[in-house]
Amino acid sequence: MAENKRDYYEVLGVSKSATDDELKKAYRKLAKQNHPDLNPGDKEAEARFKEINEAYEVLSDKDKRAKYDQFGFAGVDPNFGAGAGGGFGGFDMGDIFGSFFGGSGFGGFGGFGGGGQSRTGPAKGRNVRSALTLTLEEAAFGCEKEVTIQHIETCDACKGSGCAEGTTAEVCPECHGSGSVRMQQRTVFGTMSTTTVCPNCRGEGKIIHQPCKACGGSGGLRKSKKVPVKIPAGIDNGQAISVRGQGDMGHNGGPAGDLIVGINVKPHAQLRREGTSIYLDQTVSFFQAALGAEIEIPSLDGKVKCKVEAGTQPGTTLRLRGKGVPVLNGRGRGDQFVTVKVAVPRNLSESQKEALRHYAEAMGELAPTGTEGGGEEKSFFHKKKKK
Ligand SMILES: [Zn+2]
Ligand SMILES: [Zn+2]
Repeated sequence: MAENKRDYYEVLGVSKSATDDELKKAYRKLAKQNHPDLNPGDKEAEARFKEINEAYEVLSDKDKRAKYDQFGFAGVDPNFGAGAGGGFGGFDMGDIFGSFFGGSGFGGFGGFGGGGQSRTGPAKGRNVRSALTLTLEEAAFGCEKEVTIQHIETCDACKGSGCAEGTTAEVCPECHGSGSVRMQQRTVFGTMSTTTVCPNCRGEGKIIHQPCKACGGSGGLRKSKKVPVKIPAGIDNGQAISVRGQGDMGHNGGPAGDLIVGINVKPHAQLRREGTSIYLDQTVSFFQAALGAEIEIPSLDGKVKCKVEAGTQPGTTLRLRGKGVPVLNGRGRGDQFVTVKVAVPRNLSESQKEALRHYAEAMGELAPTGTEGGGEEKSFFHKKKKK
């Protein structure tokens, strides 16, 4: 069959002194024109495609090209003729697609076989993240805040088209605007069809000849923006609020992304939150616990009155209904739980001690004498010094 073969340089339509770039350019153009997928059922196109690939396979390889230049067909890999067997010739399909797309700045879309996706359909913009630190009260009752974010906004100059004023984008002639092309790949297992990103427009479906000066053709500009954020009552540490449409601009008419604001709640000096419950440890005096009292305690609503019954024991938990955290997106509030701690009096004066001894006697206890803290400490230090 070799005798019928056309000269490789002739096949690609380049001169014998063609550079690698010229070869690549010529190959791409011809391979696209004659691609079997674009010429279904066209046996001639199929044969040309095979021929083009074979020629490029040889000429793009320095070694093979040198041999071909010197010896003609006989000089190159004996496998060159394997195309007759039904394949594309003796080379790896990956190379075709690799060189098909390679070097055209085509990157980031997955490339060959990666289920490349076109970007022509409307797509939602990227979400932008931010964070806010709130007090316990702000989180409990909700508030209005503002966050400053960086996001990509639609370019004012071109209204997002990416085209210079007075110009429009051309619909990509390769994919007719779809952004993707179907490729047929013949393997020993049969013909496989894959859809891949259009290499001509890199999946955009359009070609901008004169890019907008303001945005460089992307249609968007990175901008700083203040966004008001409404914090709903009952939000908790670690939760997030989504502000619709404040993220990056959408693509091809898709909606903008959202702003996601993560919530941090500062710990409160006295109150502890668990869900909708608020917990407080409140110390009362021995006498308040014994005789009962109405005390003032901190709560989400500020100072509130709380009744301590006579005879309240240390560790008793009091419940203040409805003084907890409002239910997020719901009705009502949780409760506040107050755990009573009883302070034992210290540093008593002589007359106070005397009164306590009277109290003990009245309770039928033996009044202890000489065991008060001060005396003991003294004797302790005394002993230490002696040693
Ligand atoms: Zn295209
Ligand atoms: Zn622009």
